[in-house]
Amino acid sequence: MSDLRELYQEVILDHNKNPRNFGKLENHSHHANGHNPLCGDKLELFIEVVDDVIKDIAFTGSGCAISTSSASIMTQFLKGKTLSDTRHFFNDFHDLVTGIPISEEQIDDMGKLAVFAGVQEFPARVKCASLSWHTLMNALDSEIETAQTED
Ligand code: ZN
Repeated sequence: MSDLRELYQEVILDHNKNPRNFGKLENHSHHANGHNPLCGDKLELFIEVVDDVIKDIAFTGSGCAISTSSASIMTQFLKGKTLSDTRHFFNDFHDLVTGIPISEEQIDDMGKLAVFAGVQEFPARVKCASLSWHTLMNALDSEIETAQTED
């Protein structure tokens, strides 16, 4: 178990140091800002949805290692996923970080997202890990569906 924990820590540190999909998306259909005042994490999320599939997704912002790596791993994971899969993984991720038991099969399906299982032991960190996901849901639930093509 401690080996696994070390591996998880390495993945989180790697994504914090070199966040994937970091930047703005000029052509996005959905957009939202997220803020976790408890820790000071700030996040801006851009999503391009085409035919109910996340074609592209990117984020900017600044925050702690947990929030940055969570946004990085989430964006990497969700690219190419359908919106219904995305909502399904939001629920699984929420259960994972808040300590609600989920099946081994669900954890397998979550790939690298599973590295945040350890967060449930640190209640103050749960909001750091889930900030990107809540921001994602706000973006997808917002009414603005028109892609922005110019400033
Ligand atoms: Zn944080």
